[in-house]
This record gives sequence, structure tokens and C-alpha cells, in this order.
Amino acid sequence: MKIGVLALQGDFAEHLKMLERLGVETAKVRLPAHLDDLDGLIIPGGESTTIGKLSVDFGLIEPLRDFGRRKAVWGTCAGAIFLSKDARRTQPLLGLMDITVERNAFGRQVASFEADLDIPELGQGGAYHAVFIRAPIIETVSGTARVLSTVSDGRIVAARQGNLLATSFHPELTDDDRFHRYFLTLAK
Ligand code: GLN
Repeated sequence: MKIGVLALQGDFAEHLKMLERLGVETAKVRLPAHLDDLDGLIIPGGESTTIGKLSVDFGLIEPLRDFGRRKAVWGTCAGAIFLSKDARRTQPLLGLMDITVERNAFGRQVASFEADLDIPELGQGGAYHAVFIRAPIIETVSGTARVLSTVSDGRIVAARQGNLLATSFHPELTDDDRFHRYFLTLAK
């Protein structure tokens, strides 16, 4: 099993660390050829506009779309925005998932916060402690996409559509590796 992490901008190093801890072979993805032998790809948090623009510059948009039609892709925070089909602004998006997002949706005062989430799909282990940093919410989920988790007021923060996964929060910034292990089951 070999998992790539898009390494154009953002906190890709933390994802690589978590994957290595799980004993998975990893690769940094910066060019289309780097996708060739991967079983899955993680798009990290960072700045979705920057990740989008750099993906255009490096000729990655179509190769990433093609990859996501065949293999597992997980976007965390900015990565989730990049996977969406609409972010209500003009910026390069992959449009792979039938989700629409609102960027920086939690407002300035609570730009960063932590919350315990109920994520039944993760199975045993109790509440999942999630870290949100200038996070988007997933406003709508349509087609075959479905909700995996919400915060207490009902706003959607995790969704899955087949082999595609989007989370508003940052599992790579905690010690809990359940979300990464869950992603590996999609990549298998
Ligand atoms: N606010 C960023 C964006 O809109 C996402 C923040 C993050 O990835 N932690 O792209």
C-alpha cells in the first residue's frame, strides 16, 4: 500500500508522519507522474486558493481528477474545499465530490476550536477529538455523497462519496489515528 500526500502547500508533513507511524509507504506528490503507483492520495489543509493555483501551474488538475475517479482521495480542510464542486468563490476546484462548502464558515472569533465529534463510521474508541482551523463547513451533500459527522448545531464537517472523503478538521494534528486508518480501508 502506497499513499501520496499532495505537497504543494499546507501541512502535508503531518500527514506523512501519521502515515509513516501506521507503517504505510508514502510519497510527496508535486507532479502528475508522482500519482502513477499510488493507492490513495491525501490533500492536506492549508490555503485552498494557493493549493488550487499551484495545481494549475504544475499541470495537476486533470491528473488529480482522473486519479479521484479511480482511487481513494481524502481532503482535509483546504483539501476538502479543493475536492468540492462549489466553494461560492472563483478558485480552481477539482469538483470530484458532490458537496458544496463555505470557506472560513466558523467566523473570526472561533476561527480555531476543538470539538468532540460522534463519528459512527470510525467504530470503537468513543468520541473523536477534532481540531478546526479556519475551517469550512460542508453546506450541502448531494448525489451519492453522505454525511459522516456534524458539529453539535448540525453543521456538516465530514462526508464520504464512495472512495472520496472530505473533513473540515485536521486528523493529522492529533494523536488519534482512527481517521487515517479509516482512509486506508478505502484505499485498499
Ligand atoms: N481557510 C482555509 C481555506 O479557505 C482552510 C484552512 C485550513 O486548511 N486549515 O482554504
